[in-house]
Amino acid sequence: MNIHEHQAKEILKEFGAPVSNGTVIFSTDNIKEKISKLKSEKFVLKAQIHAGGRGKAGGVKLVKSISELELEAKKMMGKKLITHQTGPEGKIVKRLYIEEASDISKEFYLSCLVDRETSKIAFISSTEGGVDIEKVAAETPKKIKTKKIEFNEKGPNEKEIEEIISVFEFDELQKKEAKALIISLYKIILERDASLIEINPLIITKEKKIICLDAKMNFDDNAIFRRPEILKLRDLNEEDPVEIEASKHDLAYIKLNGNIGCMVNGAGLAMATMDIIKLYGKEPANFLDVGGGATKEQVSAAFKLILSDKKVKGILINIFGGIMRCDILAQGVIEAAREININIPLVVRLAGTNFEEGKKILDDSGLKILSASNLNDAAKKIVSAIK
Ligand code: GDP
Ligand code: MG
Repeated sequence: MNIHEHQAKEILKEFGAPVSNGTVIFSTDNIKEKISKLKSEKFVLKAQIHAGGRGKAGGVKLVKSISELELEAKKMMGKKLITHQTGPEGKIVKRLYIEEASDISKEFYLSCLVDRETSKIAFISSTEGGVDIEKVAAETPKKIKTKKIEFNEKGPNEKEIEEIISVFEFDELQKKEAKALIISLYKIILERDASLIEINPLIITKEKKIICLDAKMNFDDNAIFRRPEILKLRDLNEEDPVEIEASKHDLAYIKLNGNIGCMVNGAGLAMATMDIIKLYGKEPANFLDVGGGATKEQVSAAFKLILSDKKVKGILINIFGGIMRCDILAQGVIEAAREININIPLVVRLAGTNFEEGKKILDDSGLKILSASNLNDAAKKIVSAIK
């Protein structure tokens, strides 16, 4: 799960990390009152969307007076912001964050994340802050320092922390603040189940103070049940409505850009199905795992989800019946088909528990279904059916 910058900064503050004072607004009325607690003359106005790259897209504005702030806020609120992270459809700005502006002397990069490959916590630090870190990694990888540390209650030791922050070449006082920041980030990972915290930029102000000027935080969805305080930060505006619908039915659905819809049980089988579609020269429209024990209602919901994507030109259903019975799946398909008018090719491959019954249900349904004997056959059939 993703949260907004202002929420991430609240958490940073709670863990003692240095952030500027700010106020979030949801409408541009009475801005003067809303910012009465801010002490600065200069402000920075920031569009709150779940995507970075706002600066270059006009989603971060420095203003020198309240009247300018009011003017810019009115321009920014409700605007569609297209950044390199939003995709071409962009995101509508529905909330703004107003911060006391900082005078920047230097911008750095600092992040902390769960490194699944090594089961360690990785800290990434670089002097190349404020810019796209992916670009730095591609063009000047030497400017990025990665330090992986063992995951335990104690967190990084003094030597490890020194190593993480060494690239910044801080003075003694800044070092002390940076060390505390490293520990704060580690604690957020540990105590809030964050999977990624990215501070870009971490800055040194003209007054030589360090501040987390931008913050991004991701949380482990599988741990969210025990973090109600994080779950309540969820902003459904920022999520794909189809994915929200999927989560209501406990379905793992991720929309992709192709035109072959997939309904599969099991993440591994779903991956294999997507791979084989690609192998035959087409692109999957989605990842959809209906799970091991899917009910008729879930199957029906899954079917509707796939069909809600207007790009879908054909559907491949690939079920290996284990706990999930093929006849249940077949019933779900038929039920959904009765509600929605399906006029695109449908290829079904059933194997495992009750596959004969499943096949019979589908055959007797009168629906135009191509049945496949194996995964290879299924992929070939759907790919040629949509040509
Ligand atoms: P992003 O583009 O979505 O990553 O948004 P950021 O919050 O990182 O802001 C982009 C850039 O705007 C930063 O790298 C800074 O150069 C600039 N910026 C943001 N806040 C301030 C501020 O308080 N003062 C100044 N001078 N520049 C700022
Ligand atoms: Mg940034």
